[in-house]
Amino acid sequence: MSIDVTARACLTCGTDKPHRPSLGGRLRRCLGCGLGWTVPDPAEPSARYDLDYFTGGGYEDYFLAAPRRFEAGRRLRWLSSVVGPSVLVEAGCAGGYFLEAAQGAGFTVTGVEVSRAAAGFAVDRLGMPVRQGYFEQVAPSLRADVVCAFHVLEHVDDPRVFLRAARGVLSPGGWLALEVPNIASAAADRLGHDWPAVAPEYHRWHFTPETLTRMLLDAGFQVVSHDTVFSRFYWKPLPRLRQARNLLVADWVACGSPRMRHPHLGDLLRVFARRADGRTPR
Ligand SMILES: [Zn+2]
Repeated sequence: MSIDVTARACLTCGTDKPHRPSLGGRLRRCLGCGLGWTVPDPAEPSARYDLDYFTGGGYEDYFLAAPRRFEAGRRLRWLSSVVGPSVLVEAGCAGGYFLEAAQGAGFTVTGVEVSRAAAGFAVDRLGMPVRQGYFEQVAPSLRADVVCAFHVLEHVDDPRVFLRAARGVLSPGGWLALEVPNIASAAADRLGHDWPAVAPEYHRWHFTPETLTRMLLDAGFQVVSHDTVFSRFYWKPLPRLRQARNLLVADWVACGSPRMRHPHLGDLLRVFARRADGRTPR
């Protein structure tokens, strides 16, 4: 399912102009719209989304209860600002902590997770209903009022296929809640190839607020709102104090405020979109 990104038009704007090396050469950025993608490294096979994903490579903390429940609570509060308890599907639910929080708030939840280890954890340890597999393949058998995907779109083979699958799951007017790394962030600008979210072995696509909005429109969604948060937004207060002092200073300098949210300069881009009916997705 791999894509030769050097031989095709930009996924977002369709231009076939040459693309600009970025962030130390590990990425290319479209000159037309700014969509970024990872240059495949022939020495490193990219098929990392196997059954054991989440059991190595620094992703072990996806199973730690305290930080994950804190993060899940933040995300749930954000989601609950636009939609009440209803039927929810989370694509890429990892260990299931967000599902647990949403179920606790009255949502009827289903998770989809490619990693057998993570899906097993969610089912066995948290008692969450999770289907193990690729969301794009499981989606036709699902129906929901809300689809959530936190840090998933940057990993998938083709984000347009993923978004169309999400649209197919949703009822008319249903909500899509996404979060991805923000390549237009102050940190990406400041850190260059040291920006942690470059992660070339995992992250294939890099979005700005504009490119993600454009891709969502093309996939048959109406973007209702977007904003960004800084990484420390998801850290519990004590670790935030201990570890994030340098980040706080750098972010404060970049955006002129100690706040953890910003319209476009934060590390993580969050988008609410709704299934738009009356127009056919491209
Ligand atoms: Zn483009």
